[in-house]
Amino acid sequence: MGDMRFIRDMGGSYRCELCPHRCVLADGRSGVCRVRGVRDGLPSLPFYGRLSAIAVDPIEKKPLYHFRPGSSVFSVGFVGCNLRCPFCQNWEISQSTDAAGPSVAPAELIGQAVSSGTGAIAFTYSEPLVHIEYLLDAMALARKAGIAVVLVTNGCILEEPAREVLALCDAANIDLKTWDEDAYRNTLGGDAASVRRFIELAVSSGVHTEATTLVVTGFNDDEAQIRLCADFLSSLSADIPYHLSAYRPEYRYREAPTDPRLIVRFAAAAREKLNYVYVGNIPGEANDTRCPACGAVAVSRRGYLIDLLGLSVDEKGAAHCAACGSPLPIVARTGATAEAR
Ligand code: SF4
Ligand code: SF4
Repeated sequence: MGDMRFIRDMGGSYRCELCPHRCVLADGRSGVCRVRGVRDGLPSLPFYGRLSAIAVDPIEKKPLYHFRPGSSVFSVGFVGCNLRCPFCQNWEISQSTDAAGPSVAPAELIGQAVSSGTGAIAFTYSEPLVHIEYLLDAMALARKAGIAVVLVTNGCILEEPAREVLALCDAANIDLKTWDEDAYRNTLGGDAASVRRFIELAVSSGVHTEATTLVVTGFNDDEAQIRLCADFLSSLSADIPYHLSAYRPEYRYREAPTDPRLIVRFAAAAREKLNYVYVGNIPGEANDTRCPACGAVAVSRRGYLIDLLGLSVDEKGAAHCAACGSPLPIVARTGATAEAR
């Protein structure tokens, strides 16, 4: 069982200091995330290593478009989440613990990931960060085994644990659900400032970072919001890939699916600040990576059919546009960003 230092002994009670909820944990009770608590007077992680799903996915499904494009990734999910998004697309595993399977030891999991031959493991599907003890154990083993570590997350944790987990990540897709702090707090049960800080830390730690906004009818389908998110991301790097995905009715949210024309319009607005903006969940919409210098298609995507013919990779693993030779911020090999390493 991992080191439980993020559940602090307050002298007679415990407080979890992993995420901004800072739950005070009474004996026999769990925090908001349902998976961290106190039993018999001691910190308890009853869902340590208990997975809800294991699959090999295209890396584009995370979505990560600039990290080893065209590859596959061994992907695992847990149960629980520290947010309560009413439109959660994975609510069966994020808002319930019923789907938790038997515990898989970190060494066993990394062994399976290595055997998959993908060269990478992704922690994804529900919210991995509420299982940080298991993540730190498994990620350290993944590093030793030489496979890449991918994190798909809401990014809503405090700075100290954020730094620890990001130190063991190669790539992350982080939700930036809205710019509106009240909506983050009141509708989702999250904290916008913590999420923005997590994104800043990911970028400054050298983690390959992509961001996603699920554009939800009646929640954040507002061009001004998207522009603020794009402004923030571009202040860190204009090369951060930004995914704008269409929502469909799920869980407790019944508004109409996002109008695809809205997503296309928002993507055009975001492109005023960012070099790489992609649309998700809109069949038939082109999602190619174009070279900003010459406009040639470097990576072509049709669903999960990926064509890398427009991309050249030099002997150091750095990616370039095959047409004009300009460097492209795409990680073509495990663990190193093309522009930086
Ligand atoms: S991680 Fe869970 S228990 Fe800890 S503060 Fe957040 S919601 Fe509460
Ligand atoms: S953060 Fe993600 S997993 Fe958690 S409730 Fe929101 S959409 Fe679902």
